[in-house]
Formats: sequence, structure tokens, C-alpha cells
Amino acid sequence: MGTRFLIVGGDAAGMSAAGKAKRDDPEMDVVVFERGSWVSYGACGLPYYVKGEIADLEDLQVLEPRKIIEERGIDLRRHHEVVGIDRDRKAVTVEADGDRYEESYDALLVATGGSASLPDVPGTDLEGVFSIRSLEAGRALKNYIAPHDAGPDREREREQAQSGTGPIRTYLNEADPEAVAVVGANKIGLELAEAFLQRGLTVHVFHDEPRVLPSFGAEIAEMVEDHLEEGGAVLHLGTAVERFRGRDGRIDSGETDGGTVDVDAVVADVGVEPSVDLAADADIECGPTGAIATDEYGRTSDPDVYAAGDCAEKHQRVTGEPVHWPYALAANRAGRAIGRTVAGEPTRVGGVVGTLVMKALDLQVARTGLVDHDEARAAGFDPVSATITTISRAHYYPGWSRIVVHATADRDSGRLLGANMVGEEGVAHRINAVATALAAELTVEETGNLDLGYAPPFGPVWDPVLGAAKVLGGKLTDESE
Ligand SMILES: Cc1cc2nc3c(=O)[nH]c(=O)nc-3n(C[C@H](O)[C@H](O)[C@H](O)COP(=O)(O)OP(=O)(O)OC[C@H]3O[C@@H](n4cnc5c(N)ncnc54)[C@H](O)[C@@H]3O)c2cc1C
Repeated sequence: MGTRFLIVGGDAAGMSAAGKAKRDDPEMDVVVFERGSWVSYGACGLPYYVKGEIADLEDLQVLEPRKIIEERGIDLRRHHEVVGIDRDRKAVTVEADGDRYEESYDALLVATGGSASLPDVPGTDLEGVFSIRSLEAGRALKNYIAPHDAGPDREREREQAQSGTGPIRTYLNEADPEAVAVVGANKIGLELAEAFLQRGLTVHVFHDEPRVLPSFGAEIAEMVEDHLEEGGAVLHLGTAVERFRGRDGRIDSGETDGGTVDVDAVVADVGVEPSVDLAADADIECGPTGAIATDEYGRTSDPDVYAAGDCAEKHQRVTGEPVHWPYALAANRAGRAIGRTVAGEPTRVGGVVGTLVMKALDLQVARTGLVDHDEARAAGFDPVSATITTISRAHYYPGWSRIVVHATADRDSGRLLGANMVGEEGVAHRINAVATALAAELTVEETGNLDLGYAPPFGPVWDPVLGAAKVLGGKLTDESE
């Protein structure tokens, strides 16, 4: 009999592990338990679905369940929730269709993902207050803010609302909302702000910190803020939402420390909590970030139990510390590595350097590594930074636009620690050169010597990354003299 590999969670981490394990060892008995109906989906596309650029939720599905079962030979069990792990007996308890049963394992992967937090204020239970992590939540949000959009999702939503069925609470909203609040000016919040603006809604963005996108670094925030305001968003920065108020159970305003704002819907992006209850109840250790602690192969404190994706910690390669980094590539990569390990080829899950890119209306915004001096100091570095403003094409080539690059290094070693960038073009992929330099632990001087490509339509001769390294290198030299 082949190895019995059980997987809890049928999205990025879980399905990557299942696919790789089954490919590498076709004799393996691979079972995936997914409590919902969607598997192998791209939640990252939800803001563009809400915007209306992606018509049907089904389009976000990467692999159809039928293909997973018939073509890949994976025993996929949807609507099956794993409710307990017995590590002594190496078995899980599963609930499905009102029944409970047990399945034993040789290896178990916990890939339970994360959940989106709501602000800890009164009124989050009102109709029209959303956080989005699941596809169903994305559908409910879209149908609430765009009730007259036609299409298959609208029909499904109507059926669910009328029958009271469906995985999350859904509402029939016949009135077109006029104003929406985004609480949390973070990546997903601002992507949704763009979607709402595109739909012609008045968009209020509330953030209790003084700048948008704190994890992307303050130096580039101003350009993003100006751009959002030009695009019609109303920013309430340094403003904490204190409660939501409603009428007849439905949201109608948000109360802040600066006054009351009328809104018809609210979407929160205030953080992602790793879903660790299943593992923690089985006394599997969580690390300092609150996510499940794992070794370099993704093993938990129990060597027969692995964890991957948003529920598990990752290794931050620049700081050397564990982080909770709830993003897609890390989940897919760790899942794939664990699948390979379980199939007999021990494979490291790899670390992250903290690369993130996003679109805010017409701007591309990117960050990697350590961009905040306090964070760099906490990791034992002595940070020095330089900011340059350059252009996205050769100055004589029509259509160039401004790119701002802010780069940070360690004063003693000269090691590059991170960078953040913003501009209308040539930013989202350019950050990858810096991410590669961080992974290779290059100094600023070595980064400045990289042989990066040049042609007038794509950048100046001195690529913005090289330009930033040149200025930062000069600063390091001046300060050491
Ligand atoms: C709106 C949005 C935009 C995003 N944009 C980006 C982006 O641009 N770039 C990026 O890198 N990342 C982005 N992400 C994050 C990315 O989607 C996640 O990092 C990724 O989906 C994590 O995959 P996962 O497999 O760890 O967890 P999940 O995708 O959360 O999947 C976990 C699965 O486990 C199931 N499950 C949980 N508990 C149980 C149980 N006990 N039994 C059975 N099943 C269970 C859940 O139903 C779920 O399907 C975005 C996320 C959202 C919501």
C-alpha cells in the first residue's frame, strides 16, 4: 500500500502539495478535505471581479474539481471539514453531511489558510459590512454594491439569499449604494477602493495611521495618496473608526474620532489571522507570530504533520526571523515542496524576502525586504536610505513617467536591505531585481554592478534600481569618511 497523505484545505498550499505528491508518487493515496465548495481558486482576483473586469467567479478557479479527481487521481472531498487531529493514533476526524468519520494518515498537511479580521468596534454585524477572504465573500460584496449587475453570480446570490442557504450570510440589496467605506488603507483595501471608484461610488478610505500602505513604506505613500485623491477617493488618514451605525439592521454610517460619515457599505482590510485552531487544539506549536511554527521542510513540532500557506510561519531571509506572510507564491511554493518531500525527495520550502506589488488606479506600487528603519534596527541593522526620482523610459522616448525608488542598506556591511518603488509603469516587475539581490545578500555596490537590460522604451541607461544603488552607495561612502 502507498503512503497515505491527508491534506486539510483545498486551495493554494493544499492543492499544490496534492498535485506534486501525486505526480511524483502515483501510488500515493492523496486525500484533500475542503470544507467549502471552491478548490484551487485565485482569491487574488477578487478585487477585479468586484470591479467588473472578471465577469464570473468561476473564472477565478484554476482547476476544476472534476479534473482534479479524474485526471490527477486525487481523492478530493469537498464540503468535508476536518474537526480534529489525533496525533497519537495518526488520524483526523472529519465532518460531512452531518456525519463524523475518521481517516488515518502517514503524513498530514495543515493548509487551513487565514481569515480576514474585522475592526474591533461595535456594528460589524450590520448588513453591508464585509471582509473578504473567500470567493463567496467576494460574491456577496459585489452583489451588494452592484445589485443590478446581471450574470450568473447575481442569480446564485439571489437564490442563496432567498433560501437562506450558502456558506456566508448574503443579502438582497435592491437599492444601488452610493457611498462605500474602506477601512484599512492596505493592499486589498486599496485594490477594492479602485474597484468602487470604477463603479462610480463615493469612496471613503479610513486608516488609523497617518499614511496609506504602511507596509510599503512612508516614502512612496504621498504619491499614492495624491493619486487616489485625484481619482476621487476621500482619504481619512490618522482617523480611527469607532463604531458602525445602522438603520433596520443595515449599515448607514461610520463614526470616527473626527465625525460621522454616511456610507451604504463597508469593507475592511485590517489584517489576516492565520487559521491555527485545528493545529493548536492538537498541541501543534505556533510560533511568535501566532502562525504554525515549521522547520525548513515545512514540518511542524510533530514530524508527521506539515503546515503551509497562510496558516504557517515563513522564514524571512533578510532578518532571519519567522514571519506571518499571507501571500500566494509562498503558499504555492511551500505546498509544492511538501508534496515532493512526502513523495520521498526532501525539499526545502524556501524563505521570503517580503516582495509585494499592487495596482492603485494608474500607479504600480512595490516593496521588498526591509523598508522601515525601525524594522531594520529591530533586526540588528544600522539602516541608511536614499530616495531617487527617475523616469520609466529614456528621456527622449515619448510617454515616460516618474518612478520614485527608495532603497535601504546596512551601514556596517553595505548589504542591501530593501526597496520600495512607485510609478505608472515599470515598477511591478522591476522590484524583482531587488528581491533577487536580497536573496543573494548582495551589497549595494554589487547591486549597482548588476548587468540589467536597457533599451529606450523600457528605462533610462541607468536602470532605476542601479540609479538608487549608485546614490545609496555614495551615501554609504560619504558617511564612512
Ligand atoms: C482579496 C484578496 C486579494 C489577494 N491578493 C493577493 C495578491 O495580489 N498577491 C498575493 O501574493 N496574495 C494575495 N492574496 C493572498 C492569497 O490569496 C493567499 O495567500 C493564498 O490564497 C493562501 O493560500 P492557502 O492555501 O494558504 O489558504 P486559503 O486560500 O485560505 O485556503 C485555505 C482553505 O482551507 C479550507 N479549510 C480551512 N479549514 C478547514 C478545515 N478544518 N477543513 C477543511 N477545509 C478547511 C478553507 O475553506 C480554504 O479553502 C489575496 C487574498 C485575497 C483574499
